[in-house]
Amino acid sequence: MSHTLRPALCVAPVDTAADVKALRAFAHQVAYETGRPTVFATHTDHDVRDYSTVYVLGDITTLRGVVPCVLMGEALVAGVDVFEPLDEAVTCPCGIVLHYTRPYADERGEVFCAECTGESACAWCGEWNDTEDLAIAEHGNAWIPLHDGCLDGIRRATSTEIVPLVTA
Ligand SMILES: [Zn+2]
Ligand SMILES: [Zn+2]
Repeated sequence: MSHTLRPALCVAPVDTAADVKALRAFAHQVAYETGRPTVFATHTDHDVRDYSTVYVLGDITTLRGVVPCVLMGEALVAGVDVFEPLDEAVTCPCGIVLHYTRPYADERGEVFCAECTGESACAWCGEWNDTEDLAIAEHGNAWIPLHDGCLDGIRRATSTEIVPLVTA
């Protein structure tokens, strides 16, 4: 089980308000599927090496817009995994449907989600997190999966002006 919490980075066109809304929803779904913090890029000021994976909303070859193209290019140069959406949604035996994240396949070809392989973790305490029960808090341009209890603790311990957490 790995608790390195390098977040994922989601890229998509950000030319219009509707584009940004779609990107934000895309990143929320990736956070849900992975159980990991997920950042969405509205500008190019990210070091792609800080991220585990770059997810592209759509086809790499027809991606438009400066922000997603620059970041995708930097990720490819840096050797960071760049993933397009799955051709077909994959359903884990636990019921989670994966649209973007690569499922883990065992030697018999059975596929499992991040939660079932123990990869899904609370960003606050690092403990395993049941994807179905996690709270996904929004902080700036990031979605952060947390235990409900940990989210409450953060809210009590931190000024909301410093950590403007919004739960989806
Ligand atoms: Zn599962
Ligand atoms: Zn926790």
